[in-house]
Amino acid sequence: MADARFAEIETRTRAYGREIFARLNRQGPLLFSPAWIDDQMMGLSMADDAVKVQLFRFIDALPLLKTPESIAKHLREYFAEAGSRLPGWMRLGLRLLPESGPATKALAWLATNNARRLARKFIAGSNVAEAVEAISQLRQNNLAFTIDLLGEATITEAEADAYQRQYLELVEGMSREVNAWPAIDLIDHDHCGPLPRVNVSVKLSSLYSQFDPMDPAGTSRSVCARLRPILRLARQHRAFVNFDMEQHAFKDVTLSIFQEVLSEAEFRDWPDVGIAIQAYLVDCERDLLMLRDWARQRGNGVWVRLVKGAYWDYETVISAQNDWPVPVFTSKWQSDANYERCSRFLLENFRELRPAFGTHNIRSIAHALACADLFALPEGSYEFQMLCGMADPVKDALVSLGQRVRIYTPYGQLLPGMAYLVRRLLENTSNESFLRASFKDQKPEDQLLMNPASHANDSGHDFAPRHAAEFTNEPVSDFSREENRRAMQDALHQVASQFGWQYPLIVNGQEIATPSWLDSNNPSNWQQIVGKCASARRADAEAAVAEAREAFPAWRDTPAVERADFLRRTAAIMRRRRFELSAWEVFECGKPWREADADVAEAIDFCEYYAAEMIRLSHPIKHDVPGEDNAYFYEPRGVAVIIAPWNFPLAILCGMTSAALVTGNPAIMKPAEQSSVVAAKLMDVFREAGLPKGVIHYLPGVGEEIGPVLVEHPDVALVAFTGSLNVGLSISRQAANTPKGQDHIKRVIAELGGKNAIIVDADADLDEAVKGVAESAFVYAGQKCSACSRAVVLEPIYDQFLARLVEATRSLKVAPADDPGCGVGPVIDRDAQQRIVATIERARQDLPLAYAADIGVLAQQGSFVGPHIFAGVSPTSPMAQEEIFGPVLAVIKAHDLEQALEIANGTNYALTGGVFSRSPVNIAEVKRRFRVGNLYINRKITGALVDRQPFGGFKLSGIGSKAGGPDYLLQFLLPRTITENTMRRGFAPMADQSTVVDAKAGH
Ligand SMILES: Cc1cc2nc3c(=O)[nH]c(=O)nc-3n(C[C@H](O)[C@H](O)[C@H](O)COP(=O)(O)OP(=O)(O)OC[C@H]3O[C@@H](n4cnc5c(N)ncnc54)[C@H](O)[C@@H]3O)c2cc1C
Repeated sequence: MADARFAEIETRTRAYGREIFARLNRQGPLLFSPAWIDDQMMGLSMADDAVKVQLFRFIDALPLLKTPESIAKHLREYFAEAGSRLPGWMRLGLRLLPESGPATKALAWLATNNARRLARKFIAGSNVAEAVEAISQLRQNNLAFTIDLLGEATITEAEADAYQRQYLELVEGMSREVNAWPAIDLIDHDHCGPLPRVNVSVKLSSLYSQFDPMDPAGTSRSVCARLRPILRLARQHRAFVNFDMEQHAFKDVTLSIFQEVLSEAEFRDWPDVGIAIQAYLVDCERDLLMLRDWARQRGNGVWVRLVKGAYWDYETVISAQNDWPVPVFTSKWQSDANYERCSRFLLENFRELRPAFGTHNIRSIAHALACADLFALPEGSYEFQMLCGMADPVKDALVSLGQRVRIYTPYGQLLPGMAYLVRRLLENTSNESFLRASFKDQKPEDQLLMNPASHANDSGHDFAPRHAAEFTNEPVSDFSREENRRAMQDALHQVASQFGWQYPLIVNGQEIATPSWLDSNNPSNWQQIVGKCASARRADAEAAVAEAREAFPAWRDTPAVERADFLRRTAAIMRRRRFELSAWEVFECGKPWREADADVAEAIDFCEYYAAEMIRLSHPIKHDVPGEDNAYFYEPRGVAVIIAPWNFPLAILCGMTSAALVTGNPAIMKPAEQSSVVAAKLMDVFREAGLPKGVIHYLPGVGEEIGPVLVEHPDVALVAFTGSLNVGLSISRQAANTPKGQDHIKRVIAELGGKNAIIVDADADLDEAVKGVAESAFVYAGQKCSACSRAVVLEPIYDQFLARLVEATRSLKVAPADDPGCGVGPVIDRDAQQRIVATIERARQDLPLAYAADIGVLAQQGSFVGPHIFAGVSPTSPMAQEEIFGPVLAVIKAHDLEQALEIANGTNYALTGGVFSRSPVNIAEVKRRFRVGNLYINRKITGALVDRQPFGGFKLSGIGSKAGGPDYLLQFLLPRTITENTMRRGFAPMADQSTVVDAKAGH
């Protein structure tokens, strides 16, 4: 665009901006008028971030607090966390507040009432009648509306059905009422004629409980099935439907559903539809172009509600957590400037993309008005949209300028509305918010109307990657990205074409075929033999030990840096073969896509992390004094036998083996029979990385046959095992024998089972707790050592939790693991299937079964067991005590937190555990008293990351130290001390000139 045109836009923008400012009253309580919130709380929260966090957390928890005592308790606890940041009067008030009695009741009433009133500021009502009343008031003020249905997160199919029903009722009920009202010219007509009066906004994720961008086809199928009747009814009543936009991960699938369904013959010529597009997204302009071209092809325009985006904090946190690129702009001015670019694009293409400007920012509004003038858009061909309860004076100013303003009017119950309310509050109180700058901070108009592009030299938030030398976790694949989905599909095809290949064992670099071969079947489909692995015999095991022993001295004396480099090369190769390795796991071990991908990422992490750890440990610790040098250093133990499980087929095998190798111990890998093909792939990787032949051996075979040969061998120095308690104990016993000729005591590192519990507190966020428990219990069919097998639920919330958990579990799709929509895959093999089914049958005789999934024909196809939930389980029953290693969950009721902790701690295991609670005091209590290796607060209890959450338990859960943690490698090492007298005939070199200890081994 020519400079002169830009200058003209700028001049007009400023003029419009000043005009709007002139029409508003910036004095007085504009955003939230009621005194309590406005004058005290909002002011308070804006003054201090810590107070804001506590205040909003309290508001979020409030709907679940049933008694005045519990409201007062939470108030006290939340604000105690803010501590000295609170003003004196508040601290004093909270200190004096009794635990019960009339003052407590009064305070509880006040808090609830004010929160409710605050919610009502942003939420138009709790039912259709109240919403109709609110809308009629809007219309009296010449304001149009779009109505949105608030609700809990949709985590069950029953909830998705309920949403659909409510939307249908809404369209029907609203249309009946509103269409009978007299027309208002400003809002009911545009340049082409009458506009729909009823306008609803829909969030697609509310229409399918398993909405997942990893499975766009399945998601689209289920969403469209519920969406079409809504669209049909809307069209019939001439109502308008807008698709809201949610988090970035959902964007592509939302856009594709929008285009797919509106290209169908039935809806192709329907103009009364729109979609929200977020200008804070870096790829927003590309999407607008794509939408414009699609609308042209369709032959009928659609509306675009241009917003900046409501999930900025969420997007930045999620990307930082996963080490993914940040999808949003990181400086506010960039979002504002992009909003203006996109506004111009919409106004230039208004026939295909009808502009609806969703903003309260007077500069953004003024810019849109200026461009619309300059581009000579017909009157009424675009509109402005704002949120209920926000910037009312701006709305009035725009109406007075003859603009159509539509109010986004959410309605729904207070409880589910809280998440929405908190989002609005965060937005209003954010330092970056235009409304805050304008109304609260009263910044000068000129500053508020500045062209955002003039900030181009300002630096944004610092999202720079960490220092290269520092360990960072390998990011998991973002399957909302099409390129990753395609890469995974391609890998699955490629791997499937290699089914049935033979994998000989490898000793000292020699591939050895054995007389018998072990078939490794696909647990999702027994017909498929993924591969045939050699079955090692006693002689093979003995040969491997002999070769490893032979290789030990040279490997021990190889500098630690070289051994670490070897691991880094291994990591690089796995990165290159990322999707292929995941695909093998999907087929051989029944791991759903995300689980397989995370397993490969973890294997990479182990290599990188242990490489860095070995470098750290390779520096001798010096303690020199005049005339005496002392060095403390480590050296390897000797031949290591690695006996690995099938449930993390690459990560655990690679983790234990790479720890042995990098510390200087030759390793013999004995993988589980069920995952020997994946282990063969790891062996490939090790070989490609250039590891000396005698240092690594691949010895698949029957555990009972060669396991004891290896464990009892006198030349074996250490055994690293992960697996079941019984096998672990028997290895420990076998290794404790010291046969004649053995000159050392063997070291056993064993990570064993768990009977992990999640406590659900009475004030838990149910959306999170139900999702967290279901995911921890059933993802990978409950076959993670960290899986949740007991939910200990506090009485007040028990029935509500159980009902929702059952529905959420019913909504999980049991499917073959290669299906991207798979929620629960198969268990590992027929034996496991039979064992789990038998356990369920036994338990059914005495325990109430709250849910049993019907898996239909899958039972004949593979080793599937659907999720099962037993309710009202006694904490001492076998169901609550014994490890099952399958998708079976015991739900146990507890009267209070004290009893919940007693139950949670009341098994022989101590691996993982969790709590969902919103009480800071209860969380602190659980942290102190729930004695497990890995404790998780308000999240699922699976998915530990190397370095961030070193993993491992105690009691009967393990005699090893935490994998992926700073103590792990020490188990593979022996410490030594060398002391040298440096005094000769009465003189000694000064300490810093002393000879450096020759501790070549180990560094
Ligand atoms: C009618 C209507 C419907 C809406 N529907 C949706 C929807 O479907 N989906 C959705 O996501 N949002 C939606 N929103 C919310 C919208 O995205 C904004 O959050 C809200 O309107 C505030 O933006 P603003 O222009 O009014 O205010 P401003 O104060 O000018 O802008 C605030 C916005 O700037 C962005 N921002 C803040 N800090 C930064 C930073 N450091 N770097 C980069 N950008 C930053 C964020 O998007 C933030 O919300 C809707 C808003 C309206 C009015």
